[in-house]
Amino acid sequence: MTLGRASQYRGCVPTRYRCTACGNLTRFDVVETTSVRSFYHFTVGGELTIEEPEVIATTVESVTCRWCGHGRGIEVIDDVAS
Ligand SMILES: [Zn+2]
Repeated sequence: MTLGRASQYRGCVPTRYRCTACGNLTRFDVVETTSVRSFYHFTVGGELTIEEPEVIATTVESVTCRWCGHGRGIEVIDDVAS
């Protein structure tokens, strides 16, 4: 099976994080649940191509700083610059 444009999910979410404990801005373990609606395109022979994946909901379960090993200092950066 081919997962069409799944890699494009990256960049759809503008949320950034900062660890106030160590100043980390770049390395986080993020656990999230994503609901995706896709067009499943089967051939008569049963080959599946998944097309037009659309993220309809994303829920972040937890964010952990890679350096501290915990998420107690994590805060969300509102990207209002754009
Ligand atoms: Zn940290």
